[in-house]
Amino acid sequence: MYSDPDSIARLSAGIAAIHTEPPPDNALPSEDAVTHARDSLLQKLPAKGLGLEKAIEHLQKEIVPGFNGSSRSSLYYGFVTGGATPAAALADNLVTAWDQNVGVHLPNESVATNLEDRALSLLCELLKLDPEQWPHRTFTTGATGSNVLGIACGREHVITEAAVVRNEESVSVGELGIVEAMHRSGIQKLQILSTVPHSSLVKAAGILGMGRASVKDVSLEGISHRIDVPRLKKLLEAPGAASIVAISASEVNSGLFATSGLEEMQEIRKLCDMYGAWIHVDGAFGIMGRLLTSPDYSAIIKGCEGLELADSITGDGHKLLNVPYDCGFFLSRHREVASRVFQNPNAAYLATGPDTDNIMSPLNIGLENSRRLRALPVYASLTAYGSDGYRDMLERQILLSRGIAEFLIDSGDFEVLPKFSEDKKEILDSIYVIVLFRAKDEALNKELVGRIKATRKIYVSGTAWDGEPACRFAISNWMADVKKDLPVIEKVLNDVVVAWKAQKQ
Ligand SMILES: *Cc1c(COP(=O)(O)O)cnc(C)c1O
Repeated sequence: MYSDPDSIARLSAGIAAIHTEPPPDNALPSEDAVTHARDSLLQKLPAKGLGLEKAIEHLQKEIVPGFNGSSRSSLYYGFVTGGATPAAALADNLVTAWDQNVGVHLPNESVATNLEDRALSLLCELLKLDPEQWPHRTFTTGATGSNVLGIACGREHVITEAAVVRNEESVSVGELGIVEAMHRSGIQKLQILSTVPHSSLVKAAGILGMGRASVKDVSLEGISHRIDVPRLKKLLEAPGAASIVAISASEVNSGLFATSGLEEMQEIRKLCDMYGAWIHVDGAFGIMGRLLTSPDYSAIIKGCEGLELADSITGDGHKLLNVPYDCGFFLSRHREVASRVFQNPNAAYLATGPDTDNIMSPLNIGLENSRRLRALPVYASLTAYGSDGYRDMLERQILLSRGIAEFLIDSGDFEVLPKFSEDKKEILDSIYVIVLFRAKDEALNKELVGRIKATRKIYVSGTAWDGEPACRFAISNWMADVKKDLPVIEKVLNDVVVAWKAQKQ
């Protein structure tokens, strides 16, 4: 009953069929569908199961209609959710079917760890990072996981370095704990210096015992996404402080980049070397900007310049790489720090096989011990589409974002945020995959997100900017198509404005 080959074959065919079905017309299911799905949820554990057929029927007929179109519809623009390319989606089903556990490097027993290492190396190539320079690399559950790794590695490194300056050898937070390690290294204060950091970075500071309050703002006055370098220097040189500089490479609300070119990154690198600080880049979706080459994208290209000078980088797989949840990646240039932080001590049963290819067991360089083979969808998608395919996907997404921004600027009813320029071309050139905006009519602005969502047609998320409600398109789906999607978006926004004006009269 559990392994009836017929039903398993039908199940596999069904999964494959889902990927060839056309995407749903609406970003959201109807409210009734969501309510029905919720009411259908099993309320009591059955002693005798319903069987595979009935269980699947329950899921397909009652539960799935209550899902949103976050990955399956190109009209879902909330939260940088990302889609799943066909290659990645199908590979993800192989991952489930074969259920490999990628914890220990056992090269004679499974190719899984080699595949993971190759996928990460190909990913480095995609991002124009020399794989040799980034020996500590691993897949995580997402950018939040990667930020935790980045702050953990940074914390270990800056304290060890401060101890070395005092001729104290072998001071490791991983070994001694944070209190003793700080004591021996003479550090009184740990700080994370950043501009508009993602909430998950502040969460990482809390988890890792640095405290959410250790995150300090170093933004330029009036241009909150950019770094005020003289101010950064001042905080770095504070006596008794050890610092991690966290660079928001494409800030989540506006999509804007914290730095503006190689020179600025070189200056920040120099300062960090001088004061023993670690540079962590949160490039969850921004790091993909490194694929761009055309002068149409020079503002984004500049924002990605010099990120290779960082110590560690966060990237998300389930955003612009368009692989299924949950997949993030983490890259660091410091292999020795990885073992000091993540080593499983005294676990003889987890010993690695003969190490001829210099691959570290994933369980000794990241958070989890047992791990899903998240690498396979990434490997499959990079194999299927290559760097040109990914550049094309990204360019289509930027084009759609810029199309939306242009419509909003021209409409007269909306304004694009932040308002850093009156020049339309300059604003459009700064747009990556996020369009932050508001309605000029204050009363409409308060209801804007709700009214757009109520159409169920497209989905946007709400946020706040300068203390006012704001609305946000986040384009992160490989299916983005300006010709097909833009007219739908324009119609929804026009309809919302027309209905509002009619109601006011
Ligand atoms: C989305 C995002 C995160 C968190 O990523 P998850 O994949 O949700 O864990 C972190 N930083 C930035 C800049 C993001 O956009």
